Amino acid sequence: DKVQALLRDESDISKISYKTFLENLQPVKVHDDTIIIKTDDEIGRDYIERKYSRSIIIAIREIVGQIYEIKFMLPNELEKENKDKKGSSKKSSTNNSTHNTTTNNSQYNNLNSRYTFDTFVVGNNNKLAHAASLAVAESPAEAYNPLFIYGGVGLGKTHLMHSIAHFILSENSRSKVLYVSSEKFTNELINSIREDKNEEFRQKYRNIDVLLVDDIQFIAGKERTQEEFFHTFNTLYEAKKQIIISSDRPPKEIETLEERLRSRFEWGLIADIQPPDYETRMAILQKRAELENLDLPDDVIQYVATNIKSNIRELEGAINKIIAYSTLVHKDLTKELAEDALKDLITPEKNKEITPEFILEIVAEHYNLNPMDIVSKKRPRDIAYPRQIVMYLSRTLTDLSLPKIGQILGKRDHTTIIHGYEKISKDITKDSALKNTIEILTKKITGK
Ligand code: ADP
Ligand code: MG
Repeated sequence: DKVQALLRDESDISKISYKTFLENLQPVKVHDDTIIIKTDDEIGRDYIERKYSRSIIIAIREIVGQIYEIKFMLPNELEKENKDKKGSSKKSSTNNSTHNTTTNNSQYNNLNSRYTFDTFVVGNNNKLAHAASLAVAESPAEAYNPLFIYGGVGLGKTHLMHSIAHFILSENSRSKVLYVSSEKFTNELINSIREDKNEEFRQKYRNIDVLLVDDIQFIAGKERTQEEFFHTFNTLYEAKKQIIISSDRPPKEIETLEERLRSRFEWGLIADIQPPDYETRMAILQKRAELENLDLPDDVIQYVATNIKSNIRELEGAINKIIAYSTLVHKDLTKELAEDALKDLITPEKNKEITPEFILEIVAEHYNLNPMDIVSKKRPRDIAYPRQIVMYLSRTLTDLSLPKIGQILGKRDHTTIIHGYEKISKDITKDSALKNTIEILTKKITGK
């Protein structure tokens, strides 16, 4: 954390570069003179390695007083390495310079390091959910089991779930904590069936201490997934393992959810999160400004808190928009500028329209990518594919012409859009996990 703070505050690396490339790096282990750092994407790695290695090494020396080499590894490489190790010399190592940090266990869990209890602002709207989450984090399987958190989009469910996971891991780094979206659960189940690896799937989900399943509403209508989840639930519950579930609505309102699951979801505690009131919106914006070292005048914060009410994600989006706008037009952050920057967001109705930009935003969030990267000209498959999904969804969910869609998605030719559309249309017929993902994205976009 100290090294990161140094890079963030004392180096000449810009805030946006820090946020994009360095913020999510995680030290995984120290091995002799080398620190292994986890990074999520391949292009990112090459770039970070070339551009920031030096600054990182210097920052480490500054804090630790010693020069370390650094090595960046991708999650799959780490996983592979860990597996190899386990096979050969389990715990036989006397090399005490090798130690794992608390991130060791969370590294495959996709936990967002920003989503912790420390950064979560408690207000009247989320008091109960927050208290219940903290209780569960402090006493897994003893306080409430299962814990069921529900509330509309962008109100902090995922933030709370990650906070619980981080907390448990920080208390006990050996605890086996697994966080998944219900989509991931479904897709892994589909793949395990296809590849005849059901046993592996079960091992993965049943041999853990804490299971967090986000957005469970998406298993509605999926019988096989519900069946499997039912058994997972029972196994964990009987073994006194903690289960935490989130949903956009309470169990009784999830249609086509099997009765036996519904009743289990109601066994523990059900906590809701409501939209934030004005004071909470102010507090959240102030916290955000503080965490990111943003200099936001009070009247700008007030303006945003007064006008953006629906959810916290939009609140944050509005702030980002204002900052981007002010950088773009080289003007100071003032209330007038904020009004200008947000005029599209704040005129009602426009909000609800499905646009390629909105689709882009949802897909980017889903894949944990930056929307700008999706529209950029980069070609790696992990970006190209989400990009084609954006094309496909823009074609199916809006009435815009192909050239118009192409223009919005980084000035692309309409044949590129058709190609993307056709590629996904074809893949869906063969790939049921992709089909599931498209269904879920469509639901997220249309709100239905
Ligand atoms: P959900 O999962 O309910 O759709 P998220 O947990 O993804 O919502 O929250 C959306 C954004 O709002 C995230 O960036 C999150 O950090 C932020 N957020 C939500 N609730 C709070 C809160 N109480 N305090 C601080 N930030 C919050
Ligand atoms: Mg969420």
